[in-house]
Amino acid sequence: MGTTDRKFRLVMSWVKSACKSQAEANWVENLDFHHGECFYYTGEIQASGEWNDLTVWENGERRVISEIPSKAAKLLDAIGVDIVWSNSHVSCDVCGEFIPTEAAHAFDTVHFWYDGECGITCDNCLARDGEDYLKALEGRPESPLAKVDLRKYGYTQVSSTEGEYPYEYRQPDFAKMLEKLRLAGITRTLLKTHSNGPFAYSWGLWVHSTQIRKFNKRLGHGIDQRKVVRHVLSAL
Ligand SMILES: [Zn+2]
Repeated sequence: MGTTDRKFRLVMSWVKSACKSQAEANWVENLDFHHGECFYYTGEIQASGEWNDLTVWENGERRVISEIPSKAAKLLDAIGVDIVWSNSHVSCDVCGEFIPTEAAHAFDTVHFWYDGECGITCDNCLARDGEDYLKALEGRPESPLAKVDLRKYGYTQVSSTEGEYPYEYRQPDFAKMLEKLRLAGITRTLLKTHSNGPFAYSWGLWVHSTQIRKFNKRLGHGIDQRKVVRHVLSAL
């Protein structure tokens, strides 16, 4: 057991024994912890919860009924535990790591977790085991997470991403393009956002190796990505 772990147990046993009222018991019940290395935080342990003092409204005024949350946060912070607010992160349902929600990119296309049918999965877990995840995204205009290596799972990029494309090209009709490809029997497609800034946007069309020959037969290969859109929409 590490030093932090030992201290953590001591602090938490104090916190739990100090929680006497129902409000305090509810508060401590709602804490959540993650032990072990975490990509997004530096400490050995992350503690998630509400860390404001507990208050009630009385005669139009807010009255503090318990200072345990703020004291617990100070103690935990002092022993090197990462204090995380419960509304500022999501938890990976596979590895349990906390992922800060503010880590999401401002332009809303780069995410660090996937919220799918089986719950939330972080990009580290998906980078390790991404086959089913990528299959679920095939044919959909939703970019795979940046950390997942598409080559590792048998996909090849069929459009060039040389240079960036101006902002006005950022919204080709991806759904229509993918639908055209699907009707032509090219179903194992992925659209990956490579970069997304305020003035430029670049993306690539990827096709699974099992359908590359079919794609090349219909459309050729190595073509410019703007032409891919035009090509697919007109040729198929
Ligand atoms: Zn994970």
